[in-house]
Amino acid sequence: MGSYRIGVLPGDDIGPEIVPQAVAALVAAAENSPGLELQFVTLPVGAHAYTTTGYTLPPGTLDRLAELDGWILGPLGHAAYPRDNPNALNPHPIIRRHFDLYANIRPSRSLPGVKSLHEGVDLVIARENNEGMQPDRNMHKGNGEFMPTPDTALSVRVITRHGSERIARAAFELARARGEARRAAGQKHACGERPLVTIIHKRTVFKLSCGLFVDVAAEVAREFPDVDVDDHQVDSFAMALTMKPQRFDTILVTNMFGDILSDLAAGLVGGLGLAPGLNVGERYAMAQATHGSAPDIAGRNIANPYAIIMSAQMLLAWLGRARSDRAAISAAQRVDQALHLALSRDGVRTLDIGGNATTDEFGRAVIQRIGSGV
Ligand code: NAD
Repeated sequence: MGSYRIGVLPGDDIGPEIVPQAVAALVAAAENSPGLELQFVTLPVGAHAYTTTGYTLPPGTLDRLAELDGWILGPLGHAAYPRDNPNALNPHPIIRRHFDLYANIRPSRSLPGVKSLHEGVDLVIARENNEGMQPDRNMHKGNGEFMPTPDTALSVRVITRHGSERIARAAFELARARGEARRAAGQKHACGERPLVTIIHKRTVFKLSCGLFVDVAAEVAREFPDVDVDDHQVDSFAMALTMKPQRFDTILVTNMFGDILSDLAAGLVGGLGLAPGLNVGERYAMAQATHGSAPDIAGRNIANPYAIIMSAQMLLAWLGRARSDRAAISAAQRVDQALHLALSRDGVRTLDIGGNATTDEFGRAVIQRIGSGV
């Protein structure tokens, strides 16, 4: 019997509206999957936690997370937290760093029934998660951004062999798994028969840092002779991705470039409401959608819960693969199918993708599909 304890951190603004939809979908999937037991433990983070405890990440939260198998983190509206207050830090980089969640996996695919700039897109971004330009996580102590004078601001970019090697291996393994899944399903990808990893860089300028990243990725590529490799300068890649996203499969990228490109990729297939993500380490994984807390639409029951439900689905699939647990893997597949049938067959869509369903209505449609055996 696969039994998992999953942390639930609702987050800010639309977080408490969409995260319960993800929990409800997993509960429904477990109810329909003999041999799978899920327990949920809710922990406060963000603005609400700050109001009630004085901390956006209350003391003891990391220890409690460590006792669980994985977590669902809602979006955090950290731009609105009090500035320069050490008790009001953005929790997600702290969690990613503390648990060494070094890979941020962000798929973008065209969905049936959703109007978008492109059709036939099926790609995934494997973004290094804990170094690069991000100053709130790229230092052992201190911050990667500082001002030596009031009129000079500096940001440090960190690229290490270890960090590059790990994300490269994660990307090649992902590409191989995607290729195998396509073969098993008899599907073809526009990139060709073989899986493809595209390495993104700007090594003409960042000769040392991007140079190290690309060189290490090329070394790792030799372990995967069944996977094709190409590479792009990030600027020309932004154009190629915009014009012909169908030809890309798995994109291997450093932290900041990956942050930007994953929002761009989301925009090609319908927007941020459809952009899920999973933060992955050796021991833990955390479901977290690509989007932020969307304060502009919070409290109106109109946010799209697709991305967070799909992120939770990715977490369940990851747990299933990590434990070779067929029940968890098939429950995750059931959530995936239910989400897509709710969109395509039932035509249930939220405002951001041209529909008029509420957050709750979309969540209910997914649960109904899960319950009806999809
Ligand atoms: P955002 O992603 O919250 O919103 C950008 C646009 O996308 C908005 O118009 C919003 O309404 C829309 N949108 C986002 N998610 C949606 C959903 N599920 N359904 C429908 N529409 C959706 O980005 P922002 O406005 O730049 O940032 C808002 C806050 O979120 C800021 O405090 C920012 O720092 C934070 N943020 C957090 C994360 C995170 O927690 N991972 C990521 C990005 C931004």
